[in-house]
Amino acid sequence: MNVDIKASAREHGQLQRELWEIAQSEKATVLPDASSLAKARASLPQSLADDGIGYESTRRHILDDLVPAFNMSSISPRYYGFVTGGVTPAALFADGIVSAYDQNVQVHLPQHTVATDVEHTALGLLVDLLRLPRDWHNGTFSTGATASNVLGLACGREYVIRAAMRRIGMTEVQSVGEIGLFNAMHTAGLSGLQILTTMPHSSLLKAAGVLGIGRFNVAYVAKDDDYLQFDMTKLESKLRDPYKATIVAVSCGEVNTGHFATGGLDEMQQLRQLCDKYGAWLHVDGAFGIFGRVLPDSPEYAVVRKGCEGIELADSIAGDGHKMLNVPYDCGFFLCRHKGEANYVFKNPNAAYLTGSSSDADMIPSPLNIGLENSRRFRALPVYASLLAYGSKGYQAIVEEQVRLARKIAEWLYDHPEYNVLPEAGSKQELLEKTYMVVLLSAKDDKLNNQLAAKIDETRKIYVSGSSWQNRPACRIAISNWRVQADRDFAVVKEVLDSVAENGV
Ligand SMILES: *Cc1c(COP(=O)(O)O)cnc(C)c1O
Repeated sequence: MNVDIKASAREHGQLQRELWEIAQSEKATVLPDASSLAKARASLPQSLADDGIGYESTRRHILDDLVPAFNMSSISPRYYGFVTGGVTPAALFADGIVSAYDQNVQVHLPQHTVATDVEHTALGLLVDLLRLPRDWHNGTFSTGATASNVLGLACGREYVIRAAMRRIGMTEVQSVGEIGLFNAMHTAGLSGLQILTTMPHSSLLKAAGVLGIGRFNVAYVAKDDDYLQFDMTKLESKLRDPYKATIVAVSCGEVNTGHFATGGLDEMQQLRQLCDKYGAWLHVDGAFGIFGRVLPDSPEYAVVRKGCEGIELADSIAGDGHKMLNVPYDCGFFLCRHKGEANYVFKNPNAAYLTGSSSDADMIPSPLNIGLENSRRFRALPVYASLLAYGSKGYQAIVEEQVRLARKIAEWLYDHPEYNVLPEAGSKQELLEKTYMVVLLSAKDDKLNNQLAAKIDETRKIYVSGSSWQNRPACRIAISNWRVQADRDFAVVKEVLDSVAENGV
């Protein structure tokens, strides 16, 4: 095989410039058209040929047939589905290096590569960005917040069961990772594990399923008149069950509304005290919400900042890189306040060939012993690059612009004759103070509302994802791209929503 590395690097640079131009163009649509999708599908081979078509033809096939059928979810600032983020120029550059040099960041081998040092530094810079104390500089990069929720619940499961063993006076406490869940529960005299939360992301239930806790054992302890805030009395009554070990999970950023499960330091302190009292683990799912912490300390952001205040009191935190941090898929992060905990769960025992250098005293843990994967992508490099390039001020400006756009949309919808902003409660002022970077809306007219997301997405000018709210369909506008420009993008959103309302169904 004859590969011209320099030519591919030039090619990569050219592609970056082309993507940049597409994204700058006001004409850019957020979804591919039907004919591009059909053409791309028709071009897919039915089986593997004995002879390859070669580099050049493959390159042309991907650029001419497949790329036009991709969506603009990360490239366009007006793709508001899910929470997708984009890719900053520095992260895009670094990601090219990651593929070209293909470092496997699994064992800390300081004589062989600087990759683990860079990853560890990147995690520290992220801790700084999120204004967490440096004793939170412990954890790992994962494939996303789902994986990070699995890590959090796995560490929590380990911790709370050992705590239960100690409570019944066992002197030789064994780890769940060692003796297994069934044996550990039995030994600790426990009949169940429960997760107590309010309106969690679906991935938390998935994590409960994966870890043998069970989706059924995720219980909700919200106030009667609120879907998201903790009812501390309900929480405590469930924590009191002597036969259950508990993980309390905080939705630091609820995915439909962008609102927060806690409203300030005092509530996090209460959660902390209850968890300490009953030997429970406190996990925060801050996938996108945690980036509220980069906003400046000014009255307009006070409510959002309070929503992610006090999370340093938790035991573990899950976050996403490929959303608000605007680095490419896949990238998430997991932070843990207890240094040794992940090792109980994830260590690779009896693998001498995987042992890192023991002579260094710098204590950078080998990633394979503290996370799910062994072989791993160097996904920390784009994080490192982006944080270095833009700093906390750069990220602050990005998030502020996103909040500005979300609030412009929310304010306009609040007075709109055809639409509701959800959840419907409170004054306009209260709504705006609570609005972070998600706007949830529905059409007042049921007929239109049933097709609202489809009608909006048909325009291909903006993309929203459909959801449901109190048994009615709803649409989410989630703003997470670094390219957002509030005034420019608001004009497009307004035009699309007005035209959809006017044309009806
Ligand atoms: C997106 C999201 C997740 C899942 O993250 P992935 O990166 O898709 O794995 C978990 N929790 C919250 C709150 C999210 O928004």
